[in-house]
Amino acid sequence: MKNKILGLLGGLVLAANLYSCDFRKKETTETTEGQTAPVTTPVAASNAPAFNQDSAYQYVAKQVSFGSRVPNTAAHRACGDFLIQKLKSLGAQVQVQEFAATAYDGKKMQLRNIIGSFKPDATNRILLAAHWDTRPISDKDEVNPNTPSDGANDGASGVGVLLEVIRTLQTTQNNATVGVDVIFFDGEDNGNPEGDTGEEVSWCLGSQYWAKNKHQANYTANFGVLLDMVGAHGGKFAQEGYSMQYAPQVVTNVWKTANQIGYSDYFIYTQNGPITDDHVYMNQAGIPTADIIDYDPTSPDGTFGKYHHRHTDNMSIIDKNTLKAVGQTLLQVIYNQAAV
Ligand SMILES: [Zn+2]
Repeated sequence: MKNKILGLLGGLVLAANLYSCDFRKKETTETTEGQTAPVTTPVAASNAPAFNQDSAYQYVAKQVSFGSRVPNTAAHRACGDFLIQKLKSLGAQVQVQEFAATAYDGKKMQLRNIIGSFKPDATNRILLAAHWDTRPISDKDEVNPNTPSDGANDGASGVGVLLEVIRTLQTTQNNATVGVDVIFFDGEDNGNPEGDTGEEVSWCLGSQYWAKNKHQANYTANFGVLLDMVGAHGGKFAQEGYSMQYAPQVVTNVWKTANQIGYSDYFIYTQNGPITDDHVYMNQAGIPTADIIDYDPTSPDGTFGKYHHRHTDNMSIIDKNTLKAVGQTLLQVIYNQAAV
């Protein structure tokens, strides 16, 4: 993923946190004895089940255990096979889009978009996505810049959170009528370190392919959420420029929900410039999609995390609290949608 315009709106704080962290409001009611007793009334239609951050962490670690998921490698193939089997075991209807793509340096890559559908007959649908490939180089690192990192956050964290969201939906009493689709995009992180020239975009090859070749004719969803780098310690999710341009209502919904259930430290009301990521092509395909991505334009250490495209992107930076903040928010967004 590539920063498009650095600091366009950096540091502009649009709104303070307007929402209380107290998800439930206290009321009192008369008892038969005439005494008042506290009762709790949910503000939302129903509270989502608890997201298990330990399980999400294990899903991240499992992907990393295959090795860097660089296209055309055995680790990439094995991890993709694992993801297909995992989605099937969680009850998904799975489709795999296998296709060849040409990288900016002319290398031919065999890529797979892995797509799981739950409640495929439901017309009320939500699309969740993350990329599962690893960047082949660590070009921001001063040491060994030509070899890949473990991609624990950049790639594996988003997939891990989505697997746990799905597992939770499938293993709890879920009467929701909403259907969920998950896409694990391939070839997101193989972009040209020198920057693209001309019209061709070397990043996001999987989502570019999917936008032109949807897995179902006329596929659509009410909205989409993309996760990218959602597991690092101290993660900050500013409101990203393309998401605000194409899907402001989705951003509002996700950030409001996160703040209502207590995650205002992560989902900050700060705007940043546009970032080229898979959600650009999901939006172009007609599905209003917000990107939850670790990017803080106000950080003195730099806008992306210090691990970004460096060898420090390994399991040591993954924080279960960050996985929890994102996963619990997503579950609540889904539950709120189901109640509409
Ligand atoms: Zn990346």
